[in-house]
Amino acid sequence: MTHARKTGRVYLIGAGPGDPGLITVKGREALGEASVVVYDYLANRGLLEYARPDAELIYVGKKGGGPGGALHEMEQDEINALLAEKALAGHVVARLKGGDPFVFGRGGEEALLLAERGVEFEVVPGITAAIAAAAYAGIPVTHRGVSASLMILTGHEDPTKSEGPAGSHVDWSKVATGAGTLAVYMGVRNLPHLVESIIAGGRPSITPVAVISWGTCPRQRVVTGTLADIAERVRTAGIQPPAITIIGEVVSLRNRLAWFEKLPLLGKRIVVTRSREQAGSLARELNRLGAEVIEFPTIRIEPLGGDRLRELDCAIGSVARYRWVIFTSVNAVDAFLDRMHALGKDARSLASCSICAIGPATAGALREKCLIADLVPEKFVAEAIVDAFAKAGGIAGARILLPRALVARDILPDSLRELGAEVDVVPVYETVPKIDHPQDVRELIARGEFDVVTFTSSSTVRNFAEIVGTERAREICGRALCASIGPITSQTARELGIPIAIEAAEYTIDGLVKAVVEKAGKAPAEDR
Ligand code: SAH
Repeated sequence: MTHARKTGRVYLIGAGPGDPGLITVKGREALGEASVVVYDYLANRGLLEYARPDAELIYVGKKGGGPGGALHEMEQDEINALLAEKALAGHVVARLKGGDPFVFGRGGEEALLLAERGVEFEVVPGITAAIAAAAYAGIPVTHRGVSASLMILTGHEDPTKSEGPAGSHVDWSKVATGAGTLAVYMGVRNLPHLVESIIAGGRPSITPVAVISWGTCPRQRVVTGTLADIAERVRTAGIQPPAITIIGEVVSLRNRLAWFEKLPLLGKRIVVTRSREQAGSLARELNRLGAEVIEFPTIRIEPLGGDRLRELDCAIGSVARYRWVIFTSVNAVDAFLDRMHALGKDARSLASCSICAIGPATAGALREKCLIADLVPEKFVAEAIVDAFAKAGGIAGARILLPRALVARDILPDSLRELGAEVDVVPVYETVPKIDHPQDVRELIARGEFDVVTFTSSSTVRNFAEIVGTERAREICGRALCASIGPITSQTARELGIPIAIEAAEYTIDGLVKAVVEKAGKAPAEDR
């Protein structure tokens, strides 16, 4: 989407069914281009991350579910007018809608008004809820030899009242046997009438049915039964909209194909306290395992500036003097090499130095800069580096450069000095507390509404305690499970009176995830 156009236009974008990973590549690009984003209830808020930081975000609500459940923040006419108005003012507008914009999304109405007003628009289809929710429940909507047709319909109308809006009236006698698989949107409240009409229309009452609420989301729930008993089962289970009802023999495949509910962390709400720049890999992995991740970064990484760079500049200027450069974090790698580039130098300046990385993530960051670490200790704490050097033939008399955070423990340089090395510790970045969290996240944390909180460094623990208050931190962390990346972080937590329930055996992000799955995840055999 590089072709710059002066006039405004509207992208009608399908946001997908809930899992933020299910937006299309094109949808995400269009979202990143827009200066105005208009979104509603069913579009995952996490997607707003892809919007430009300066984009105007407009929530237009719409909580469906039929009579009693309706909460319209803005009338459809107003939304239509808003889109046209913003585009005519020259904005690129992203209209983000749950699922697909043209499947019960009223996207057609929005497009019609835009066409009428001569506003340019593009439609970016999305994965619609029926297909996605069924897939996440282990139900293929068509299946060779079982069902060769899929009917998508709304259950919003009460089938016992024959009058519907012109052209949208559902003929239940035809619907009942009209397709192998029926996917009913907005049908939870009318479910008793719905199944009654379908049975009356000639579908056997033993036909399998699944009702899937919040499909593809960590809070997905699936209730199965038959046309005869599903309404009662759904009532007992307390299923609420949004939910999709899938009717047909394909539902029985779920017994063998359910996969999403087997994810070990499904339904667990896990707080990630790392800096936003670093949270990605941890959040992605937890999410892949089914967790709902709440990003609550408690620190921010700041490169040093001004006078505080003097030592670093000096070290970079004469880096060839050092036999070893030791990197103890990804941040140190990034900040050090960025500064080197800013001074007009590149990796060749390090040609005569050996390089040590404290762990695989740091080694990976070096690799991205085309540098291969000569030494990566087996265990990822400062103490292990010392051991590794001792094993690697010692470092007596060697000059070592240690670029790292402004505030850090002295154990590593002290131990290296004990081995006879000459160590220059040079600050390259600092971690500062981050406090500007969105209100809903802050409140959720303060109320302790999560299952696990993860700490990946001592500063994440300290700042967490500072942000929510130490006393409160002890309370909420005591109720949830507190997970630490290693013994040093755990010690900091204990000193603050925060109990640690989970500690990684291997002090890496992978190690932390593994420990969380072992202690907080459900047993693989458990079926829900
Ligand atoms: N345009 C959307 C549908 C909007 S109508 C799409 O293509 O998916 C709203 C209805 O969609 C809800 O009442 C529910 O029936 C269904 N729905 C949307 N998201 C859902 C989800 N994650 N799980 C189950 N049903 C969902």
